[in-house]
Amino acid sequence: MEYALVLIKPDGIIKNLIGPIFTKFSQTNLKIFACRMVATNFELARKHYQHIKDQPFYQQVIDYLLGKYHGQNKVLVIIYGGSNAVRKCRVVAGATNPEEADPNSIRGAFGRITQQGVYENIIHVSSDAKEAKREIKLWFFPDQIEERIFPVKTVKSQNGFKAVWK
Ligand code: ADP
Repeated sequence: MEYALVLIKPDGIIKNLIGPIFTKFSQTNLKIFACRMVATNFELARKHYQHIKDQPFYQQVIDYLLGKYHGQNKVLVIIYGGSNAVRKCRVVAGATNPEEADPNSIRGAFGRITQQGVYENIIHVSSDAKEAKREIKLWFFPDQIEERIFPVKTVKSQNGFKAVWK
């Protein structure tokens, strides 16, 4: 079993592409383990994009995820699981650069590069299984996933006990 985190970015939400995106991913026959609408914030965006913090487009990408180009900061985060989940999801997503992406992929069909050079590529997909694990633990609490896909531990909370990632 392998997991992949897919995130529909603010442009995908505002362009009403949730339906078409799910349809494209249904070709993979992967199983959805969880799905959640999240309002992004700087801490989430910074942690999510820690691997590109030295890139010249870093600030643009943070602003993009924070919804600064689309007037709203909601994203839809989805966990897909199954054999080769990352590779299958990345094929459906298409290349990072939407102008180079296969026209039948999500980024090729719906993405664009703005005049300011922002790659508005509609979705994020984890780059490998290890990164998927890190991202899933960032965007989901254990109790927001109906199955225990990764180990948890129980800690004391205000109202009793709660599960946190190990
Ligand atoms: P991917 O999202 O395909 O895994 P990366 O992790 O390399 O690609 O990049 C993260 C995000 O940064 C991309 O999805 C895209 O929004 C943006 N990005 C990547 N490369 C560029 C670039 N050369 N110019 C502008 N934005 C870029």
